[in-house]
Amino acid sequence: MKGDVAMNEVRNNILVDEWRIIEKEFDLENNVKNETIFAIANGYIGMRGTFEEGLDKKYSIEGNYINGFYEIHDIKYGEKAYAFPEIGQTMLNVFNPKVIKIKVDDEEFNMMNADILEYERILDLREAVLKRRVVWRTKSGKELEINFERLASFTIKNSAAIRVKIKPINFDGKINVDSLLDADVKNLTAEDDPRVGSGITGRAFEIEKKVIDENYYEIYASTKKSRLKLICSITEDVKNCIILNRKELNDDLKVGFSYEIEAEKGKEFELIKYIVYVNSREYNENDIIKNKEEIIKQVLEYGYDRLREEQIKYVKEFWNRADVEIEGDDFLQQGLRFNIFHILQSTGKDGLTNIGAKGLTGEGYEGHYFWDTEMYIIPLFTYTMPFIARKLLEYRYNTLDKARERAREMSHKNGALYAWRTINGEECSAYFLASTAQYHINADIAYAIKRYYEATDDVDFILNYGAEILFETARIFVDLGHYVEGKGFCLDGVTGPDEYTAMVNNNAYTNIMAKEHLSFAYEIAKMLKDKYIEKYEALKQKINLNDNELDEWIRAADNMYIPYDEKLKIHPQDDTFLNKKIWDFENTPKDKYPLLLHYHPLVIYRHQVCKQADWVLALFLHSEKFSKEQKKRDYDYYERVTTHDSSLSPCIFSIVACDIGYKDKAYDYFMRTARMDLDDHHGNTKDGIHAANMAGSWMGIVFGFGGFRVYKEKIKFNPIIPDKWKKYSFRVNCKGRLIKVEVEKNLVRLSLLEGEDIKVDVYDNPIILSKNKDVEVIKVQM
Ligand code: BGC
Repeated sequence: MKGDVAMNEVRNNILVDEWRIIEKEFDLENNVKNETIFAIANGYIGMRGTFEEGLDKKYSIEGNYINGFYEIHDIKYGEKAYAFPEIGQTMLNVFNPKVIKIKVDDEEFNMMNADILEYERILDLREAVLKRRVVWRTKSGKELEINFERLASFTIKNSAAIRVKIKPINFDGKINVDSLLDADVKNLTAEDDPRVGSGITGRAFEIEKKVIDENYYEIYASTKKSRLKLICSITEDVKNCIILNRKELNDDLKVGFSYEIEAEKGKEFELIKYIVYVNSREYNENDIIKNKEEIIKQVLEYGYDRLREEQIKYVKEFWNRADVEIEGDDFLQQGLRFNIFHILQSTGKDGLTNIGAKGLTGEGYEGHYFWDTEMYIIPLFTYTMPFIARKLLEYRYNTLDKARERAREMSHKNGALYAWRTINGEECSAYFLASTAQYHINADIAYAIKRYYEATDDVDFILNYGAEILFETARIFVDLGHYVEGKGFCLDGVTGPDEYTAMVNNNAYTNIMAKEHLSFAYEIAKMLKDKYIEKYEALKQKINLNDNELDEWIRAADNMYIPYDEKLKIHPQDDTFLNKKIWDFENTPKDKYPLLLHYHPLVIYRHQVCKQADWVLALFLHSEKFSKEQKKRDYDYYERVTTHDSSLSPCIFSIVACDIGYKDKAYDYFMRTARMDLDDHHGNTKDGIHAANMAGSWMGIVFGFGGFRVYKEKIKFNPIIPDKWKKYSFRVNCKGRLIKVEVEKNLVRLSLLEGEDIKVDVYDNPIILSKNKDVEVIKVQM
């Protein structure tokens, strides 16, 4: 037994296991949540962990999603004002390709009423497949073993596959299998919770065509309003049995095959569904069919076994870079790997798509992309698989025109202002106080570019994408701000990350991020001028940039006002935060949290109360700029007034606690992140994973306990270890090197797994890392 919870122990009906999420007994009551947990995705296709045969709607939310594929709807306002977004976007629940219904003697298999003798559902994190095994006894005593398996391919992103193996255990005879594609799908609607549900009512698709031929069937459709096209094609392969009869099934909204099979006792037969989706956001309408055909061809050439092998290869490479090991706590180990895996699954990797707040696992937040990407998700990829970080940043480049349009709508004479929540780049939040006002998103994107560039030296990215984003977004801060005597450059009327405080002047987080943004844009412009003058001139012309603007950027950066309270010796969150009365935490019952569901925003705004890390996030992102004492004072202050009603908060408090030596707090906050979805801490995992938190738990290990930081040329580690752990380890990919860090009670071991020799600092002491030569440091700190 290791740690508090042992391997093979069951917690919340999930077996504790290092590499697998295992449900041993079907848990009807928690099934909707578990459909999120057992979701399978590849960044393009997402399929909730629903059952092939379906389940009563009370216990199940059928969901299949295509990243970036949305329907639009009119945003309805009681009182509308100028430049309020008019059109919302919702990631669509698309046709369900999973349907497989198994019948024996007219009795249909299903998890609610069937006599299930054995059951197991496993999400295997090393194989990236979902498996379900059942032994079913029919009313007449016939027993069958059924093994379902499903994957969304990482190598052919438009494809997924389902394989079901069926074995009659104690009988010979007929088995009927219906396999379908179901277009009778809708999105969820929920009126009272801003985090759930959409503006889409009814079916969003118009079906253009259904096709059934030889061994495949397809539905062609377009969305009623956004006029996007989607084709879903399924090719089937039935093996190891005699097919007595095969009928085509084709009604209004469903298409597929019905098989009558002569089954033999003890002999397993199988049905494989090769699923391919293509849509008009990725292929132009004239090419879409041709591309679909090519993808299908490739998938069929691979076949199921090769798809599965490639899947294993892909995730193996991922784990080689991203794995985090904890010795002494299996419960935690499972949670961490589960989180990291879901981030890999949820992230778009094609430059056209991004990662929604709930990944591809549910309809919460309508599938929208937020700043979560740059501040929480990209760091994980920058330091593990940087090409994915680049793709996420390319998505921002690909939506830069929309950000330019938004800037004009917001009366900025030039530059680009990114949408707070979006799929296609257009702002689609109706509540500007907690969206458009969050101008920090521009600086967050710049920050992610800076870190990515520092870690990879990817000049090509800067030249072709990064510089243009940086310059265009920097312009907004210069236009927004103004000089105030005695203060400096001030930014008014913004909202920081903390959504319980809105529309303030000089949100300290926004200001420090804008400062960094402006000076980085200046640095990059200088670099371009010095080394890539042709590129610089071309860009200048393209965006009509005047050389004087560079001087304005650096002047604003140098003079940026960062609020500071001399009496308390802390950084106030903004100009008026400290004047407000402190929320009455003592008399707020537990069931009134999250506050946003129980109090009008005005009531919340009038108080000192934070939904999430705001200035504390700045302490992490700019940790080198503040003394430990300063960080402690700021942390102590904000900890008292933060509810952590946002799942984005605890991981940041944990990281900063590590930095300032609050080891117990670091551990406690970290533990709130590691199994947030597996244990459903927020009670809403059914609506989808909390993607930012999941990546945040990885950050908690690497930046928090591991104390990993990169400043320009310097790579630093400052590890500490919680008392409860014997050992932990992680890997980081930086400057072309893959470094493994193992931390024990009195020892830090560093190994260079890939790349040339490199100097790193451990506890501020320089150390040279070379391949095949581990370096051990006797740990003295904490
Ligand atoms: C948080 C935002 C976040 C959004 C999506 C909100 O609750 O306050 O910071 O971007 O959730 O995760």
